[in-house]
Amino acid sequence: MTATDAESVLWIDGTIRTVGPAVKVERSAPPGVPRYDLPDTMVTPGFVDGHTHLGLWAMNRRRVELRGVRTREEVIRRVAAARVVQGWVIGQGWDANGWNDAPDRHSLDRIHSSPVYLDSLDVHAAWVNSAALAEAGITRETADPPGGRIVRDGNGEPTGLLLERAVELVLPYLPQPSAFTLDEVLREAQSEAHRVGITGVHDVESMSILEAFRRLESSDELRLRVLFQPPVSALTHLIRQGLRSGQGSEWLSLGGVKMFLDGSLGSRTAWMLEPYAGTRDRGMPITPLGVAQDAMNTAAAAGWATTVHAIGDAAVRQALDLVSRLPRVALPHRIEHFQCVHPDDLRRGAQAGLVLSMQPPHLLTDIPLVERHWGERGWGAYAFRSLLQSGASLVFGSDVPVASIDPREGVYSALERTTGDGAPPNGWHPGEKLNFRETVHAYTVAPAHAAGACARRGKVAPGYAADLVAWSVDPAIEHGDGRAFREGRALLTVVGGEVVMRA
Ligand SMILES: [Zn+2]
Repeated sequence: MTATDAESVLWIDGTIRTVGPAVKVERSAPPGVPRYDLPDTMVTPGFVDGHTHLGLWAMNRRRVELRGVRTREEVIRRVAAARVVQGWVIGQGWDANGWNDAPDRHSLDRIHSSPVYLDSLDVHAAWVNSAALAEAGITRETADPPGGRIVRDGNGEPTGLLLERAVELVLPYLPQPSAFTLDEVLREAQSEAHRVGITGVHDVESMSILEAFRRLESSDELRLRVLFQPPVSALTHLIRQGLRSGQGSEWLSLGGVKMFLDGSLGSRTAWMLEPYAGTRDRGMPITPLGVAQDAMNTAAAAGWATTVHAIGDAAVRQALDLVSRLPRVALPHRIEHFQCVHPDDLRRGAQAGLVLSMQPPHLLTDIPLVERHWGERGWGAYAFRSLLQSGASLVFGSDVPVASIDPREGVYSALERTTGDGAPPNGWHPGEKLNFRETVHAYTVAPAHAAGACARRGKVAPGYAADLVAWSVDPAIEHGDGRAFREGRALLTVVGGEVVMRA
């Protein structure tokens, strides 16, 4: 593969043999090795998305797509046209901002007698029809669950709108995908990942998705390097099976056990040291600290790393306190999101040798929220440069399906620090911008380190796995801005030496 006039890459049997000027590389190539001439492209190591929910995203792609639909009428039209699958119609992504009429069950009853379930864009509400309410046994007598609300009309009848934890009243009744379906949608998601230059994921998901990845691997169809981070609820089961972090193959290996310390900024459930602006509310820990600590200790004693979700500055501080005390295991412990950090805590992640897993694409939507709810503390949000300068290992990802899996969005965000509309023009807290090289590192070398594979993956160098992407961007982008990279695209994606995508 010709990277530039000066640089070519030769790989044989999945391993990179030679990197250098085209003439030298060509001379060392045995006869019959296929050539890919891609002038004016830039070659990088394959990008690894450090925080995904690939199975959830894969399933969502099969549901009725309501994201971006402006009007209530258009939502109804799309849902009316949808097929009933396993007895239900399931959709996701509606957004009632700007609608005159609230979502209600009657409008769905008119188009489907089968149960209908529609997740909102932010996944904090569900819109269901009468059949779905009946299936879940929700009537006017049903009390609101703690932390949730069944919206009711003037007569006390449920309207079909369920908020927050009331959504959970219906979830157990939704049909579960068959193994066949799960494998099929995961194959599609894998292709989509290849299309945008992703060759690996650090996936955070339920055990049924681990089983699906195992099936794909055993049928030799897995073409992503998957570091699977199972939920803490599965810990006892995993230990009983004799499993621990770092085990697995070159395709599918086990990361740390995932647990939550707090919620999110969007729902103002992130746990803060000081109240949200204009309130007395600081959010709260969603796992009691003693319980989290016991789980981390049990995990570490059995060789499991901890992967802990912390967004607010209080949760980040607690996560640092708890995780820093854990003994070392085969893989580094990590904190996911690490969104808001108090100045006193900036250096502690690096000091404890933790991996800080952050998602730059959230900046595209979060800047106004941070300003509104966190005020001055915003300088410590997404503090990429300060954290990098502290010596921390930053891993970047998307949190797909919350943001797009396309890494061009993340690279753009890390370099430019603006909203999707490009505001503010010079970037938000521009001192925290990273350059292109630092950003690519967080998508390549750093995730390889977090997966215990830094001697084999994450670099375009002899002896490394041939996980590569050729981008239609000028290699001079190294000194350029995020916009130039966002305008380019992946032209060729190679995983384990196999060309899995050619545009
Ligand atoms: Zn997530």
